[in-house]
Amino acid sequence: MNYGIAIHGGAGTILRSSMTAEKEEQYTHALRTALHIGFAILDKKGSALDAVEAAVRSLEDCPLFNAGKGAVFNSEGKHEMDAAIMDGSDLCAGAVSLVQNVKNPVSLARKIMENTSHVFISGPGAEQYAQAFGLRLETDEYFHDDFRWEQWQKSLLAGKTILDHTDTNDKKFGTVGAVACDALGNLAAATSTGGMTNKHTGRIGDSPMIGAGTYANNKTCAISCTGHGELFIRAVVAHDISALMEYKNLTLSEACEEVVMKKLVVMEGEGGLVAIDKNGNIEMPFNSEGMYRALKSSAGKEVVAIYK
Ligand code: ASP
Repeated sequence: MNYGIAIHGGAGTILRSSMTAEKEEQYTHALRTALHIGFAILDKKGSALDAVEAAVRSLEDCPLFNAGKGAVFNSEGKHEMDAAIMDGSDLCAGAVSLVQNVKNPVSLARKIMENTSHVFISGPGAEQYAQAFGLRLETDEYFHDDFRWEQWQKSLLAGKTILDHTDTNDKKFGTVGAVACDALGNLAAATSTGGMTNKHTGRIGDSPMIGAGTYANNKTCAISCTGHGELFIRAVVAHDISALMEYKNLTLSEACEEVVMKKLVVMEGEGGLVAIDKNGNIEMPFNSEGMYRALKSSAGKEVVAIYK
């Protein structure tokens, strides 16, 4: 049985011309580290669920990405983070939105999936669960990042909500996510994000919405998205790909092409995703300039890439 993992650190206008060799090396290193953490779990016959959670935690802890430490500022200068996780073997899912001070929102999503009768908890209610489950909390200072702060000041001056992806001067992009297929053929997906710079307080993107930014089903595939959340919600991107495979018998590659390169493009929904099917096939399509991405499979394939 083939097994493997794919991860992303956000998609957007990521141009080689605006990247230094040093920065590129930092991103590549962070992606490879997360990839190897996830793959090592699969290699030891661990579960896809454990692999995606561990890979996403590693990316959340890295300030280069817009999730956990490094999350962007909202319209009130706060961090409101969203995350979700889904187990393709039983369609169980957990999600949180608008959480503050939780070091690893993806692990809170998993606790909600496994230890409560709920799927999706927002704000203070989710933070209560974080405390009840003994998850690590951090101060506002932990989440503060000078680059993100400047990014927010710029968007305040411009009076707009900036998609991390569209400002070509920005060197940091991205929501993070992972999908995996383990040696038993079980699939899982996880996504975590700080959302969009200067987003209105209370705004929730596609990342924590099951079926929009995150989805996993052993019958079809596991998907984690990154991009303009509002469009990804309206296009129900992740579930749409699964549905094309389940009801129309499309392959993973055909279904991704249909949704990312056709449907989203018509709607002007910039972004991409990582996807894996039950046979361990991996796709990493995006319609933006670039996407921080990586994959590793039991067949010996390893890719870490940023640009088109
Ligand atoms: N999809 C995320 C959101 O809209 C942003 C991202 O992918 O970076 O919240």
